[in-house]
Amino acid sequence: MHWPAVRGDYDVIVIGAGICGGTIARELSKYKLTSAIMERASDIPYGSSRANSSMIHGGFDDKPGTQKAMFCPVGNKMYRSLHEELDFKYRSCGSYVCAIGSEEERHLETLLGYGKSNGVDGLAIITGDALRDREPNASGEITAALWSPTAAIVNNFEASLAFVENARQNGVDLFMRTEVTGLLFSEDGSHIRGVSTNRGDFTSRVVINAAGINSDIISRMAGDDSFIIQATRGEYFIFDRSIGDMVNAFFFSCPSAKGKGVTVAHTADDNLLIGPTSTVQTDRENRNTTRPGLEEVFGMSARLVPNIPRNMAITTFSGVRANSKSGDFHIYALDRPRGFVNVAGIKSPGFTSAPAIASRVVEIVKESMPDLVKFETDPKFVPERRHIPRFADMPMEERERLAREDPQWGQIVCRCESVTEAQVVEAIRRGARTVAGVKLWVRPGTGRCQGGFCAPRVVEILARELGVSPLEITRHGDGSRVLTGRTKEPPLRGESL
Ligand SMILES: Cc1cc2nc3c(=O)[nH]c(=O)nc-3n(C[C@H](O)[C@H](O)[C@H](O)COP(=O)(O)OP(=O)(O)OC[C@H]3O[C@@H](n4cnc5c(N)ncnc54)[C@H](O)[C@@H]3O)c2cc1C
Repeated sequence: MHWPAVRGDYDVIVIGAGICGGTIARELSKYKLTSAIMERASDIPYGSSRANSSMIHGGFDDKPGTQKAMFCPVGNKMYRSLHEELDFKYRSCGSYVCAIGSEEERHLETLLGYGKSNGVDGLAIITGDALRDREPNASGEITAALWSPTAAIVNNFEASLAFVENARQNGVDLFMRTEVTGLLFSEDGSHIRGVSTNRGDFTSRVVINAAGINSDIISRMAGDDSFIIQATRGEYFIFDRSIGDMVNAFFFSCPSAKGKGVTVAHTADDNLLIGPTSTVQTDRENRNTTRPGLEEVFGMSARLVPNIPRNMAITTFSGVRANSKSGDFHIYALDRPRGFVNVAGIKSPGFTSAPAIASRVVEIVKESMPDLVKFETDPKFVPERRHIPRFADMPMEERERLAREDPQWGQIVCRCESVTEAQVVEAIRRGARTVAGVKLWVRPGTGRCQGGFCAPRVVEILARELGVSPLEITRHGDGSRVLTGRTKEPPLRGESL
């Protein structure tokens, strides 16, 4: 990881390295600007971008005229080329919203109408039987489904990392473990002058607030309290790859006032995913899973796909949505102080919408702040970035060739996901600093044993590559050390054995 020395005077500072902060930073890096991202966590992604359904939504869920309805279909189209440019996993799978009975079928008609107004291509309502012809494990109770062929699923870790990494390749500075604690203003309070953080002050002419769950807190620092973020937790199960193909597409139950409903999905890495719940909570950081929550997920998903074998579950997790009480995104520049832009309330379909939001944010800065920053296209901008080669997906000849050239490619660290030492070393070289960070980059610990075998190896490699004691290595940053001490301390001088 490149850790720039603390310094000030950027054109633009982006708060938060989630999918919004990353896409915005990459968009800014197309211009001759000096930009930086401030991220409080030790790993990317950390907030909602880390734990979600990873779906690239078609764009029919939201009422025409809302910001969500405007950005989602555009983002969906942008991902079709972005995943190639930035080399993150993307499965074009399509989605079904499934109705059981006439009331829910009427809802499909409403969604079809929204989709047509929002410009979503290829939508069609099909019968339950037609659905079961395509997806034999679909429930016999389903009477109709809305098919959206443009929906897709991504690896959200890879996608989030890709935008930030490409922004960095194009000159954006990234400050990890840097929490924005205040804003700096001009003497008369009319302009933003930068941010205060736990690592000191950074000055800038523009500050973009993409702080997810904390975006209302940052907005209040700028004097805008027009929205409140309501943390809403969603719990999930992940199942072993061997049953990933129980479905091909992304299944949704009919949406309700609580959200888009429960999903059953075949992930970009071929696992089966079910969830999420929707529980409003006061604690913004609570990412626990609960027995009642998981029971709810299991019960709801069985209405879509019955007989999912519970004993094939490999883990559970939860993510926290940064829902605004208005239900829509909040993307605008403040009139006073000038130079401050909110990108807040980015709930689902925020992951899908992010690239389109990023383009709009840059437009907002260009249009409303020409006196603060000058946009000049940078001819040196490199749009492509390559992920760390995925050993698990390589043909045997390629594996053998790499292992001959570098023995670390022949050392398997994670047997479940076939991750080699070379991949772990490269992840560390590219910024991973914790066990969770390595997992986000190259997947050791995401398989059936959930790190039981590979975690000690990852700790060892992290310590070796970073030149620190294994006792210093953390699971996910400060306060999460993996090892507490040596089991066989050498005896103290004079002590008898
Ligand atoms: C359960 C669930 C399911 C979802 N499913 C989907 C889906 O299938 N498809 C879809 O399109 N969308 C989905 N979403 C929504 C999507 O995940 C979010 O809209 C998106 O990830 C928001 O990205 P973000 O960058 O705004 O926020 P985040 O990813 O939360 O990033 C904000 C970043 O700001 C950092 N930060 C916060 N405070 C500070 C501070 N003071 N200083 C510095 N850094 C700070 C955080 O650490 C974090 O890294 C889902 C969300 C959830 C929770």
